[in-house]
Parts: sequence; structure tokens; C-alpha cells
Amino acid sequence: MKPVFVGTDSTRVGFAKNILESAGIACFVQNENTRTLGMSVLGFSQTPLNDPVLCVVDEERAEEAGNLLREHFGTAVDAGEWLCAACKESNPASFDLCWNCQAAKPE
Ligand SMILES: [Zn+2]
Repeated sequence: MKPVFVGTDSTRVGFAKNILESAGIACFVQNENTRTLGMSVLGFSQTPLNDPVLCVVDEERAEEAGNLLREHFGTAVDAGEWLCAACKESNPASFDLCWNCQAAKPE
């Protein structure tokens, strides 16, 4: 899986999910699960992972999904991805920790 969209409200993320599903891209929304994970594993009560995150199941289609969402949301889509130095996964700009290995965002 790969996160392609981070929203501040579930309605917006749900809309993004509909866009991807109508394009035949399998995806799911993470939020409550990552909140529990963020608190228990990372020890933080407040992390960027609390925002609902839309993930695509097939990483091969992540770029296609990102392009589709940019078409619909314009600049609202999180385009400033950063690359994790530890595991080389790309992360949405609003993440302060890598979604994959929880390494801190590089300065
Ligand atoms: Zn990482």
C-alpha cells in the first residue's frame, strides 16, 4: 500500500476515495487504526497520522492516483512529498514521520 492523499476531514478523503475507485484503483482509508498505532507504538498523543489517509493498494498505481487527485483537487493535494532516508519510501508533506518505518522527516 502507499498513501496518496492526506485530508483534514473524512468527507474530503471519502471523495478522493470515490475518484480513485471510479477509476478502478483499489484504495482504502486509514485513520482510526493509525491513531491507535501512533499512540501505542510511537508514544505520541498527537501525530500527523491522526488525519485520515487515503492509501492505494497497488503501489504501481500510486502515481496515476496522485495525478487523478491533483486534477480534482488542484493545489489542495499534498504534492510536496519527501523521501524517507531510512527506507526510501515517499511520504506526504504533512507527515512528520515516515508512514512505513516511523523515521523522522529529514530537515
Ligand atoms: Zn521510512
